[in-house]
Amino acid sequence: MTVPASAGRRRMDVMTSTEPSIFSRIVAREIPADVVFESDAVIAFRDIAPQAPVHLLVVPKTEQYRDVAELAAGDPALLAELVATASRLADELADGHFRLVFNTGAGAGQTVFHVHAHVLAGGLEEASLGGA
Ligand code: 5GP
Repeated sequence: MTVPASAGRRRMDVMTSTEPSIFSRIVAREIPADVVFESDAVIAFRDIAPQAPVHLLVVPKTEQYRDVAELAAGDPALLAELVATASRLADELADGHFRLVFNTGAGAGQTVFHVHAHVLAGGLEEASLGGA
């Protein structure tokens, strides 16, 4: 089977990139964002393409972890802080009910390989997973 040369090259580009991620550039205020919370370790801002009335991204400031599986294995306390931040922001900015999504891998829709939680809240009734 022939594998297109470009496939391996793209993967190497991602794996060897030394460019800061787009989220690190938001942390550094190089790119503007609607920041709703910031601590020493975590930043939260509104998604630029919202999929719900309230759609936040909660992001560790470190870009050491590409996805939630790496974060859970490497720093479970930081993952817990992400979840606690999501919950608190859903209380403050919506009715406290929220969906937490971690796209993990390109095949699952992940486009930014700096771990982040999508917090979706406000009027989710019609889009509930498994809700009959
Ligand atoms: P993923 O597809 O990796 O799970 O999620 C990446 C998310 O980042 C997408 O929902 C996308 O809309 C959001 N996003 C990408 N670039 C920017 C940006 O420059 N600013 C903000 N606020 N969100 C962004």
